[in-house]
Amino acid sequence: MINVTKPFLPKLEEYVNYLEGVWDRNWLTNNGPLVNDLELKLKEYLGVKHFLYLSNGTIALQIAIKALGIKGEVITTPFSFVATTSSIVWEGCRPVFVDIDPKTLNIDPAKIEETITPQTTAILATHVYGNPCDVEAIEIIAKKHNLKVIYDGAHAFGVKYKGRSVYEYGDIATASFHATKLYHTIEGGAVMTTQPELVKQMAMLRNFGHHGPETFDGVGINGKNSEFHAAMGLVNLKYIEDIMLSRKTQAGQYDIALANLKVTRQYIIKGADWNYSYYPVIFETEEQLLKSVEELNANWIYPRRYFYPSLSKLDYVDKYEVPVCEDIAKRVLCLPMYHSMKKEDIDFIARLLLRVQNN
Ligand SMILES: *Cc1c(COP(=O)(O)O)cnc(C)c1O
Repeated sequence: MINVTKPFLPKLEEYVNYLEGVWDRNWLTNNGPLVNDLELKLKEYLGVKHFLYLSNGTIALQIAIKALGIKGEVITTPFSFVATTSSIVWEGCRPVFVDIDPKTLNIDPAKIEETITPQTTAILATHVYGNPCDVEAIEIIAKKHNLKVIYDGAHAFGVKYKGRSVYEYGDIATASFHATKLYHTIEGGAVMTTQPELVKQMAMLRNFGHHGPETFDGVGINGKNSEFHAAMGLVNLKYIEDIMLSRKTQAGQYDIALANLKVTRQYIIKGADWNYSYYPVIFETEEQLLKSVEELNANWIYPRRYFYPSLSKLDYVDKYEVPVCEDIAKRVLCLPMYHSMKKEDIDFIARLLLRVQNN
């Protein structure tokens, strides 16, 4: 069986080595030494100014929204994982969908301004499949209208834009280290910012609002992560270059094997150092996609329809016209890609897809 992804696992001994320290210290969670070490190492690896390790990427979005005091309407993309929208609603705000650019698959900055109202306070955009948003255009709009900017960088681990970590753009950027992501800590997430006052506040928010052992500063939540998760993160970080390189190789193999398949691909913007976190293809029709999925499934291969359906179809959001997103969501498929995947598997998948097309 071949799934869309398979989490990277290091040698068990390497993980166990870290656990011995946990047993010695008897310190399991609450900002332990492994969590601190991981925060330092990830901050350095990613090249960001401030970094807070959290329990997952969804709580990262919620803490970001809370820390910036966002209220009312939040302009966002309908082409993302459901957590991008649900976290806005969970925080008592209203998602306002702006359609995507059909090439980059990211929110279309040219369509943002027309949706701004006096209630708009922020833009929450996703770097879809790790492709950086048009951060410059978004910054200009945000400055002009006094809006906060959050980037959902769940797919953007290690991505750079114009030589700088993509996580350095916007007021706050979030990451997810869930087992299905490029780099994982089993469950995990992070918030990153260049603004020191925001780090302090988010550190309190992740720890119940504790400001010292007996005082509180506002409403907090439990966004902490454990020593066990940090240990997985520390081990996996040693392999990240290897993991990224294998995906780049696999993407190249797919490109060659699928040269005659009638699909289009996401356009990665100029200036981006991309991470090959997914291998999405956009079919000409949904029918073609469904036939392809059927054939792959019959051969125990399970790609995923990321992202389908368009988030504009959720039953707890207001209706917006986002035809580009709704059309692409029906036609896009992420093909399997993971560290230990073999060229034979890629060639087999390609043969099946070409057979469906040529039948
Ligand atoms: C995975 C993902 C999230 C949520 O991250 P979790 O760590 O699973 O909570 C949010 N946004 C996007 C775009 C994602 O892909």
